Amino acid sequence: MGILVVGSVAFDSVETPFGKVKEVLGGSGTFFSTSASFFSEVNLVAVVGEDFPQDHLQFLRSRNVDLGGLQTSPGRTFRWEGRYGYDLNEAETLDTQLNVFEAFDPRLPMEYVDADFVFLANIDPELQLKVLKQVRRPRLVACDTMNFWIEGKRAQLLETLHHVDILVINEGETRQLAQEPNLVRAARVILEMGPRILVVKRGEYGVLMISEHSLFSAPAYPLESVYDPTGAGDTFAGGFMGYLSGTRNLDEGSFRQAIIFGSIMASFVVEDFSLDRMRTLEFEEIEERFRRFKLLTEFQGLG
Ligand code: AMP
Repeated sequence: MGILVVGSVAFDSVETPFGKVKEVLGGSGTFFSTSASFFSEVNLVAVVGEDFPQDHLQFLRSRNVDLGGLQTSPGRTFRWEGRYGYDLNEAETLDTQLNVFEAFDPRLPMEYVDADFVFLANIDPELQLKVLKQVRRPRLVACDTMNFWIEGKRAQLLETLHHVDILVINEGETRQLAQEPNLVRAARVILEMGPRILVVKRGEYGVLMISEHSLFSAPAYPLESVYDPTGAGDTFAGGFMGYLSGTRNLDEGSFRQAIIFGSIMASFVVEDFSLDRMRTLEFEEIEERFRRFKLLTEFQGLG
C-alpha cells in the first residue's frame, strides 16, 4: 500500500501582500495528501467537523486520496489564521482553533495498519504517536512539526521523535527545537533525539538534508510570482514522501531525487492561494519543471 498520513484538514484564513482569503481549504494533511497523490496512493487519517463541505472531500477523492480514515465529528473543523509580510518565508500565526482535533481519537481502518510509508504531518504530537503505534511494521516514518507544538507539547514531541526516521522541519523551528542557533550544530542535536535524517526547509533558500554521514543542499525553484506560501512545507513533504513511496527505493540517490520532487511540488502550490494551483496541475508540468531544475543546478560537463 501507499502512504499513511495523519495531519490537519482545515479552514485557513490567510493574508499576504498579494491578497486575502477567508476560510479556504487548507491543513497539513490536505496539502500533503494532494501533493503525494501525484506519485503514490495516499490514505488520510484526520477529522473534520459537521461544517466541512462535501465539495472539499470531493476534491480529495478526485486526487485519489483514500478517505477511509477521515472522521466527521460533531463540532467545528480546525481553523488556522495567518499573515505573511513581503518576506514570505515565515508565517505569523494570528489564530489557531483546534476544535474537533481536541477530542480526536484516531482509530486506523484495518486496511491501513500494514502501511509501510508513514507521514506524521504537523498536528498534536500525541495524535502523531497514537497513529504510529497502530501501524504494524512501517518501513519509513517521517514527521513534521511547528513552533506551536515545540512550545506547547515539547515532552510529547520528544517522545514521538524517538520513533521516526526523518524529521522535516523549518529552519527557525530547527533552532528552536535544538535550542542551538547554529544550523549544522542544531541538526546534530536533533539527530540525537531519534531521527536519522533531518530535512530542513529554508523557504526561498531551499532545503538542506543532513544525516550523520551526508549533507545535501538544494535551492528552491526561482519563481517570478509567489502569491501564498501557505502549505509549501506540507506540499514539499508530500512530493518527497510520494516520490519515495512511488519508487520504493531508499538509497541516498533516491532521497536526493525526492528532495527535488518535493521542491518542485512546493514551487507550484505557492503560485496561487490555498490548493488552487494543484487543482489544474498536470504531471507533464512536474516533469518539465524537473528538467529545468536539473539545468538550474548543473555545473559540470557543459563544455
Ligand atoms: P505550512 O506547510 O507550514 O505552510 O503549513 C500550513 C498549514 O498548516 C495550514 O494549512 C494550516 O491549516 C496548518 N496548521 C497551522 N497550524 C497548525 C497546527 N498547530 N496544527 C496542525 N496544522 C496546522
